[in-house]
Amino acid sequence: VNSSIPEKKPHVSQVKQTIAPILLTSKRTSIEQQQKSLPVFNCRQRILKELEVNDTVLIMSETGSGKTTQIPQFLLLAGYAKNGMIGITQPRRVAAITVARRVAQELNGSIGDTVGYTVRFEDATSRATKIRFLTDGVLLRESIKDRLLLKYSVIILDEAHERTVNADLLFGIVKDAQKERRKQKLGNLKVVVTSATMDIDHFGNYFNCKGMYLEGRTYPVRVMHTKEEHEDYVHTVLVTLFHIHRTTPKNHDVLIFLTGQEEIESLAQQIRQLAKIDTTGTTDLRVFTLYAQLSQGKQLECFVPTPANVRKVILATNIAETSITIPGIRCVIDCGFVKEKSFNTADGLDVLMSVRISKAQAWQRAGRAGRDADGTCYRAYTKAEMDSFADATQPEILRTNPTSMVLQLLALDIDCNNFDFLDPPLEDGLRSAYKSLDALGAIKTGDVSYITPLGRQMVQYPLDPKYSKLLLTASSFGCMEEILSLVSVLSSDHVFVSNSDKNEMAALAHAKFQSKHGDHLTLLNVFNAFLKSEKPKMWCHDNYLNLRSLTYARNVRRQLREISEHLHLALNSSDDIEMLKKCILNGFFENIAVLQRDGFYITASGNIRSKIHPSSVLHGKYKPSYILFTEIVQTEQTFLRQVTEISIEWIKEVVPFVKNIPTR
Ligand code: ADP
Ligand code: MG
Repeated sequence: VNSSIPEKKPHVSQVKQTIAPILLTSKRTSIEQQQKSLPVFNCRQRILKELEVNDTVLIMSETGSGKTTQIPQFLLLAGYAKNGMIGITQPRRVAAITVARRVAQELNGSIGDTVGYTVRFEDATSRATKIRFLTDGVLLRESIKDRLLLKYSVIILDEAHERTVNADLLFGIVKDAQKERRKQKLGNLKVVVTSATMDIDHFGNYFNCKGMYLEGRTYPVRVMHTKEEHEDYVHTVLVTLFHIHRTTPKNHDVLIFLTGQEEIESLAQQIRQLAKIDTTGTTDLRVFTLYAQLSQGKQLECFVPTPANVRKVILATNIAETSITIPGIRCVIDCGFVKEKSFNTADGLDVLMSVRISKAQAWQRAGRAGRDADGTCYRAYTKAEMDSFADATQPEILRTNPTSMVLQLLALDIDCNNFDFLDPPLEDGLRSAYKSLDALGAIKTGDVSYITPLGRQMVQYPLDPKYSKLLLTASSFGCMEEILSLVSVLSSDHVFVSNSDKNEMAALAHAKFQSKHGDHLTLLNVFNAFLKSEKPKMWCHDNYLNLRSLTYARNVRRQLREISEHLHLALNSSDDIEMLKKCILNGFFENIAVLQRDGFYITASGNIRSKIHPSSVLHGKYKPSYILFTEIVQTEQTFLRQVTEISIEWIKEVVPFVKNIPTR
């Protein structure tokens, strides 16, 4: 077992507690009725027959037809879990957790028994687990220890159209495991690839198998576009929602697609306020939110039906596009954007930005309105705008930084240059990934590239290689405990709560944690104070800090610390801030930026013009000449998020190999 996936299951008891009230909403009989009414139910024999004859089956059917929740149960009943688990991969942790819970509920059990899930930093499975939902990242990391995936009798690669890098790698890995297991007579590995939309020919050629289309059952959806282009889609969405609210029956629930947490939370708040003014005080509109970082209990809330005279409005990211189906939706409002990671070949960094969705996504979103009855989809963009959308989303492997991927494959003794990719990544990106890993000391490149012992240690951490390197070198700077805290708190987003009503109070509360050195040390101050607090809940509330993010960071820290102990790293600690900053610089040497005369910063690795992000403690203050940053965020402008002041002397001392430092 990979050390990031502990065998014990510390979270199971928590899970049971949060799920209990929600389970009460459904009764056995109604669950059976629901199951029988799902399109996949009628195809059960066909699916089992196909899988009996073939090792790989591709199944394509509408979102909500029961692929994710039902197919694992069919396989369980058909005896597939006798010699190994049924593993189902999901691109997102929210989906893995919610569907696992749903299936546990359908099987009348609790999470961690027959049905469990494993996501990064959280394992809710046991020896009894037969059906295991896991993120594709987790399965990929398991395959480093177990190339042939011997724990599994069946692997279902779900949501194949999402084409995350991890999923793309898994396609090649399961294909290889199938071949090897057949050759070594180790019991066949059955593979099921499922999706609502996929290029069946492309997948069919790759897996050398046929595809099955399952007849779905959907109702017509009327589609409306805006007449004119609007700059501010959030406003368009808001106006459309209240138009729907005034003109349609209250039992027509609305699903709104937006790009991310901040946008969703701020619009949710606006809607709640307006709904109060709009009505006579009675709440005939209830707002729910759904996005990856949301707490698990909250994620499930949106499945609970509201009374017939109360409209349910769900603000979601593209998680609701195909992974999660919420019953009762009659209207969809589509903002037309999605937040996507994309890779800047110039400086090797991934940037997260809002981009136009593809036509395929637009139709998936519209389809969400026609699950239960006729529906309507309102698009916050014109027909002409939609004509310019790409037909389908590009696979992530073609648009993100392949560094982690190259390292993970080398840990499996696979050189990317010989891997059987469904779509091979771009050569430029690969070349710079090899270069960057070589600079990190993780690999040695040459005629035959191979992973170094340091690189092998790096893949033990479920982190970007940069963060792993930071942890692995921290003890030589004497500040392992501090770096463990820093990496943990960086892996958790939105530590600071900003509430537009109480912005000043929040700023005042946050001020006492501020470090003049920058955001990394500020975050560290917050996290240390949190770890020391006696009543964390109250303390977070009083200090306008996000309890959930900090609790998450504490869990992450515990696990990273375990891995570090396992790697025999010295768990030392120091209060020497200069050493700490040098240590961060040592890990983040690719993220240096230099101040220019015009007040902009230029990044050393890609010459990108940018500014310090407004959320930074260094924003609006005096501008340090040299900084390092955690990430580049691109909205209308380019910002460097989470920055720390450094000096040119340190660069020369700590990372002398970094060349091309821009001049001031
Ligand atoms: P697919 O994978 O084909 O998109 P799913 O198996 O996810 O379909 O969902 C099948 C049906 O189960 C959906 O139509 C949805 O209404 C219902 N469902 C799924 N998850 C839940 C849940 N957590 N609570 C209530 N209903 C659910
Ligand atoms: Mg599904």
